[in-house]
Amino acid sequence: MEKLNCQGCGVQIQTSKPKELGYTPSSALTKETVLCQRCFRLKHYNEIQAVSVTDDEFLEMVSEIRDTDSLVVHIIDIFDVNGSLVKSLPRITRDNPILLVGNKMDLLPKSTNNRKLMQWLRSQAKDAGMNVSDVYLISSVKGHGLDELKQAIERYRDNQDVYIVGTTNVGKSTLINRLIKDSSGVKDVITTSYFPGTTLGFIEIPLDNDTALIDTPGIVNKQQIAHYISDKDLKVITPNKEIKPRIYQINSKQSLFFGGLGRLDFVKGDKQSFVCYFSNQLPIHRTKLDNADKLYAEHKGELLSPPSQETLELLPELRESTFRINNEKADIVFPGLGWVSVSGDITVTAHSPKGVAVSIRKAII
Ligand code: GDP
Repeated sequence: MEKLNCQGCGVQIQTSKPKELGYTPSSALTKETVLCQRCFRLKHYNEIQAVSVTDDEFLEMVSEIRDTDSLVVHIIDIFDVNGSLVKSLPRITRDNPILLVGNKMDLLPKSTNNRKLMQWLRSQAKDAGMNVSDVYLISSVKGHGLDELKQAIERYRDNQDVYIVGTTNVGKSTLINRLIKDSSGVKDVITTSYFPGTTLGFIEIPLDNDTALIDTPGIVNKQQIAHYISDKDLKVITPNKEIKPRIYQINSKQSLFFGGLGRLDFVKGDKQSFVCYFSNQLPIHRTKLDNADKLYAEHKGELLSPPSQETLELLPELRESTFRINNEKADIVFPGLGWVSVSGDITVTAHSPKGVAVSIRKAII
């Protein structure tokens, strides 16, 4: 096939991978103006479609951001902070300000302490070498926090362009589509003043005559548990409404399994409650610590699922890490799955797929 480039965003056209950058159905190649599907949808339906690239590809594409004066809005999934923080962002943005936006707030219990959550997000970003100007919490599906975010974007961008950056599945397209719909009258602006960019794979949605909101492709991060399980399993572990805490009274030498994707052993300490915050559909099993290895070996993929039997092979082995808690209330965080809130003077051991590391934070509820 002769090499073709999208006349919207400049990306090289391909016809085999619908979810990746540059996809166009082959039937569309005969048209006079060849657009990738993402640009086509924006032009004709005012809608942004999610596409993905690898972190390395993204790094290659972004010298443009580095060389501009612009605002970078980094969207992350508050359910999977470790999996959705783009660790290469500081290299990409250089001196441009970053707004960190935690999405999917609608899934957290109403009693969540937003201030503590924001503090934790800030510290996670700092650990990744990211200096963020401000943190916002939103739900792009329900619309929570969007007005504040929009005002902040206006304030921080200082009449410059805005790049929206995130890994796949954080809700970046949902947010942009909402922003497009909310700006009344913009419908025509996009179609008429839609200008073929010179960028590769970035698409521009004009904010005014001179500046634009720029959608960048979603980055695939291998630390996201989503990459190791099937779409069906992903539906089970992804909360679809506000999560209800499930409380277990646990003695030491007992273990909890979260499907077959995570496990928490109560190694040492007095009896106490483990408050579990996971998707309401994810089954939790309690067992004796002595039995836990055997139960996992014999029943992963069945009783202990997701992962389903079919996707079990994709899943890296479980690795353990041990945490000592000294009387303060803490959350043991299983990225992409949820967390368990514990307190007291206790020792716990967490098991999670290799590469998807469990961490600890001050309790946010
Ligand atoms: P992208 O890959 O970052 O563009 O993500 P999408 O916008 O395609 O969203 C990924 C998934 O997350 C979809 O199933 C969305 O419905 C869901 N999602 C996005 N934003 C929110 C939100 O604010 N709350 C909830 N509960 N789900 C969301």
